[in-house]
Amino acid sequence: MIIFKYADQLARYIQQQKSAGKQIGFVPTMGALHSGHIALIDQSKKATAVTVCSIFVNPTQFNNPNDYQLYPKTIEPDIVKLEAAGCHALFLPAIAEMYPQGTSNLEQYDLGYLETLLEGKYRPGHFQGVCQVMNRLLTMVLPHKLFMGQKDYQQCMVVSRLLQLMKSPAELIACPTLREADGLAMSSRNMRLSPENRQKATTIYKCLTLIKQESNQGTTWPVVKEKATKMLTDAGFSIDYVELADAHTLQPATATMATIYQGPRVALVAAFLGDVRLIDNMLLNEA
Ligand code: AMP
Repeated sequence: MIIFKYADQLARYIQQQKSAGKQIGFVPTMGALHSGHIALIDQSKKATAVTVCSIFVNPTQFNNPNDYQLYPKTIEPDIVKLEAAGCHALFLPAIAEMYPQGTSNLEQYDLGYLETLLEGKYRPGHFQGVCQVMNRLLTMVLPHKLFMGQKDYQQCMVVSRLLQLMKSPAELIACPTLREADGLAMSSRNMRLSPENRQKATTIYKCLTLIKQESNQGTTWPVVKEKATKMLTDAGFSIDYVELADAHTLQPATATMATIYQGPRVALVAAFLGDVRLIDNMLLNEA
């Protein structure tokens, strides 16, 4: 695996690969890699000839400075995992390489209502930061295919919108969420959970499973939401949201949606255990 710290060197490498007729797959990450990230590398390797991964903890997407300061950094084991997975190139830029003019007065994107609901509502500015870094990364890598996780469901929708705004031909491939044996969605932030909270964290998965079962049986959303909320608060979570939404638009459920709505739906949860914020989601119409 070749490691690049500078965008111009990465661009030269990508250009060489493209000149040789190779398709480029791209997996952007913030590091502290786990098997969920590696599954994206595997998907990219299956679908394209050259897989490029980036590791960059993007300061502009953190609305909470404490979360940014405490974000886990494990670069050496990350490199070992990427090597083992057969990743071809790693882009590891410094902040100044990504934001040579600094991080104030960066461009803003028209993300419509995606910016004001769910993650957008609870993490103001977060998706602008995601777009600022993704615009730079996509311009540097110019991938044919972009691999991202459904774990960050709304982020996939935002990046899909960004690709339209950029008129990028890159194809976004949303990959399934990898989970621990007890159902907890793999996440770099899980490392920050105390052993006790790590046990409790599985409640999010149990709660999503309950929402799926009850909604598919026709229980109305307000009833299901109350049960789900109680489950999480009883386990010690402080909840940002528990929502049921249209899987294509993310518009929230109406009171009767579970019984009359036939289209695809997704249940989404964001909640804190101590100072660690966890998010997860589950499609209701899938087996
Ligand atoms: P992050 O490093 O958290 O920014 O994540 C980098 C990419 O990995 C994003 O596209 C995430 O959605 C994806 N990802 C994170 N956790 C998982 C998981 N458990 N399963 C699959 N993909 C994931």
